[in-house]
Amino acid sequence: MSVDSRVVTYRRAAEQMRRGRFDVEIPSEGFDELARLGESLRALAKNLETRFDEQVKLAEIAERVNAGLVLDEVLEQVYDSFESVIPYDRIGLALLENGGSTVRSRWARSESKEVKLEIGYSAKLSGSSLEEILRSGRPRILNDLEAYLEEHPESESTGLIVAEGIRSSLTCPLTALGKPIGFLFFSSREADTYRRIHQGHFMRLASQISVILEKSRLYEELLKVNRRLRGMQKALEHEAKHDALTGLWNRGAVLRLLEREVARARREQRPLAAVILDLDLFKQVNDGHGHLAGDEVLRELSRRLVASLRSAEFVGRLGGEEFLLILCPCDEATARKVMERVRVACGEPPFAISAGELEVTVSLGAATVDDVEGVGLPVILSAADRALYRAKKGGRNRCELEPVSSLSAS
Ligand code: GH3
Ligand code: MG
Ligand code: MG
Repeated sequence: MSVDSRVVTYRRAAEQMRRGRFDVEIPSEGFDELARLGESLRALAKNLETRFDEQVKLAEIAERVNAGLVLDEVLEQVYDSFESVIPYDRIGLALLENGGSTVRSRWARSESKEVKLEIGYSAKLSGSSLEEILRSGRPRILNDLEAYLEEHPESESTGLIVAEGIRSSLTCPLTALGKPIGFLFFSSREADTYRRIHQGHFMRLASQISVILEKSRLYEELLKVNRRLRGMQKALEHEAKHDALTGLWNRGAVLRLLEREVARARREQRPLAAVILDLDLFKQVNDGHGHLAGDEVLRELSRRLVASLRSAEFVGRLGGEEFLLILCPCDEATARKVMERVRVACGEPPFAISAGELEVTVSLGAATVDDVEGVGLPVILSAADRALYRAKKGGRNRCELEPVSSLSAS
C-alpha cells in the first residue's frame, strides 16, 4: 500500500518540532482530512514558536534583572525588557510600609508626560482592593478603568491613573520569602489590554522579581546606613584631630605634625622652625569681659593665624591661649620675617567682639633648627618655650628666637 507523500512531510515536520525547530515548511495540499491535519500542524508550529520565543525572553529578563541590584536600576530594566511579553504604557511600583498598613508609590515610569499619581503617594492598605490582591496572591486585571472608577468613585488612585489617560491595568502582588512587600502595576492607555496569559507571564517571574526588588531595597537601605556611618566616622576623625573651639589642629595632632615635619626636614636636610605663640595678658580679657569674650578672641586669633600662614605651614592649639606654628623649610632669617608678619596680623586691627573693640597682642618664641640631625622634639619645644619666656620678659608683643643644633641638644 502506497503512503500519501503528505504523511511523510507531516511526520518530518513533527520530528523537527520535537527537536525545537518550529520554522517548519508544511505545504497545504488538497481538501481532505489529511489536508486539515496539515492545517492543524501548521497552527501548532506557529503556537509553539510564539511560546518558545516568550520563554526565551522571560529567561533573558530574569537574567538581566538579576544582574542589577539598586532598585531604580532593576526597575528600569524591568521597564525596558518586559514590553515584549506584557504590553504597557506605564509601570509603577508601590511598596508596603509601616508594617504593611500603608502602600507608598516608590517608582513609576510612563510614556505619558503627565504623571498624576506621583512617587511618594501613599494610601491605607486595609479596605482597599489591593488588600484582596495580596490575599489571593494573583495578579488582577482591570480592562475598563473608567467603568471601574464609576463603580468605585472612592478609589483615589484609580482616579489619578485614569486622569493620566490609563484605561487598563494589571496589578501584580509582590511577595518575597513568603512576606508581601508591595505591588507592580502594569498599565495601558488602551482599554481591554490584558489577558490571562499576561497574568501567567508575570506569575512565572513574580517570585524572582519580588526577591530581587526586596534585595535591592535592602541594599539601598544598607547604602544609606553606610553613607551615614561614613559621615559619622569622618566627623569623629575630624573631632579627634581638631580643637573644638577654634577648629585648628589640637595638641596631639599638631605635635604629630611637628614630628612628621622634623623627620622630613632630617631626610631632606632642610632647616625648620617651631614657633610657640601666646596671647599677652589674656587673663585680663577673661577677667574684664568674661570667658565668652575670651573664647571669641581665641576664635578670631585662630582665623588671623590661618590667614597669615601659607597652606604648607601648620598651626595648632597647644592648649589654653598657646599655639604652635610649624614652618618648614624655614631658616632663621625667614622665621624672623614670618613671625613678625604673624605678630602684626594678630594685633592689628583691634579685635571687634560682642563686648566691643579690644586691643590684643601676642608674643612668639621660636626654635630654629638648621640641621635637624640628632635633634628631637623635646629639645625643639623647650627651646621655643625659652624663647617665648624671653619675649614675655622683654615686654611682650615681640618675637624671640633660639637656634638649636645637635650640639645644644647633647
Ligand atoms: P601672659 O601674657 O603672661 O601670657 O599672661 P596671660 O594672662 O595670658 O597668661 P596666664 O597663663 O596667666 O592666663 C592664661 C589665661 O587663659 C587663663 C585662662 O583662664 C585662659 N584660658 C585658657 N584657655 C581658655 C579658653 O579656652 N577660653 C578662655 N576664655 N580662656 C582660656
Ligand atoms: Mg598668655
Ligand atoms: Mg599661656
